[in-house]
Amino acid sequence: MRYDDSVDEKEVGMSEKVYLSRASVGEEEKQALASVIDGMYLGMGQQVMLFENELAEYLSSPVACVCNGTAALHLAVQACGIGEGDEVIIPSITYVASFQAVSASGATPIACDVDPVTNCTSVEDAARRITPRTKAIMHVHYASGMGDREGIFKLAKQHNLRVIEDAAHSFGGMHNGKRVGSEGDVFCFSFDGIKNITCGEGGAVVSHDESVINNVRDLRLLGIQNDSAQRYAGKRTWDFDVTEQGWRYHLSNLHASVGRAQLKKIADFAVKRQALAKAYNEQLRGLPLRMLPLDYDQVVPHIFAIVVEPEKRAGLMAFLADHQIETGLHYKPNHQLTKYQSTNCPHADAWGLGSLTLPLHVSLSTDDVMRITKLIREYFSR
Ligand SMILES: *Cc1c(COP(=O)(O)O)cnc(C)c1O
Repeated sequence: MRYDDSVDEKEVGMSEKVYLSRASVGEEEKQALASVIDGMYLGMGQQVMLFENELAEYLSSPVACVCNGTAALHLAVQACGIGEGDEVIIPSITYVASFQAVSASGATPIACDVDPVTNCTSVEDAARRITPRTKAIMHVHYASGMGDREGIFKLAKQHNLRVIEDAAHSFGGMHNGKRVGSEGDVFCFSFDGIKNITCGEGGAVVSHDESVINNVRDLRLLGIQNDSAQRYAGKRTWDFDVTEQGWRYHLSNLHASVGRAQLKKIADFAVKRQALAKAYNEQLRGLPLRMLPLDYDQVVPHIFAIVVEPEKRAGLMAFLADHQIETGLHYKPNHQLTKYQSTNCPHADAWGLGSLTLPLHVSLSTDDVMRITKLIREYFSR
């Protein structure tokens, strides 16, 4: 990758900046956008239908596309009939989008702790937080891992709860020999600019429960019943009924066309992301830090997180920043936010103090990983 100032940087002996995350888009996406623009139908139409059909085939499950991952989570909750007076249990370590999506539906998000090894929903702590108002567990695939997914489904079955999986990180991965999204209750994916595939902005609700999918199809178009089929045909409904609060959450042809070009590249993206994560695992072994126990032949990692001694974190991040390497924090625990306050999430608290994420994206090279891990070794040997 070349930037206008890269020559200058080389001349003064600085290395090129390494970004935490980036989209991988090129000629195919440009052409897809150009052909939608030439067709002059930019809103929700045939491209969205085709993208949904291609996703449905890839995931072996019905799909409804929406404008982003947060909208997918919000509509998934609403389409399950969850709202005012209901509670949804969510692990504290996730993007605030998961919490906001639940509160947007009128339901109350209840933060629970994470498992200290996988950093996914703690089944024991989720069980402790179930009340007669609990209607669902939102299980987050943190860093593309699924933690004790079977334990979550068992708990949900015992208490008659829905399982809404926030699969924003895990598109393209496999779990127990099955594609993530093919078997479960309700999955929500994000196709934002930096996820495993992107539409620019986009999202999808995936479920074998046809009532959920049909509900989402109406809710994304202001609750206008059966309008999706008209839009796919380049038309719209003029005489209609509305029975529920809906939203303006549909996907556009422009975004869907980018998603279609990206879906063709997912196998290639998967191999690259998996190779980078394996290289990190290999190169960081033996250092005073912890990594997630993920099988990078199965999952397609969206982020690469490590945990260090809390006193060391700021220093390590600053050291890497001095060497033009961007790092991130995924995530500040949600139970520490004013709106979602809750107590007794010690493992989430610890994660919030000691974790950081290292660069991971398709344009990163194994040489970049070598450079980054060499610097981390240097930091710990000082
Ligand atoms: C990206 C993300 C979302 C939200 O998706 P958007 O498309 O950005 O709205 C939700 N949950 C998690 C864990 C995410 O990483």
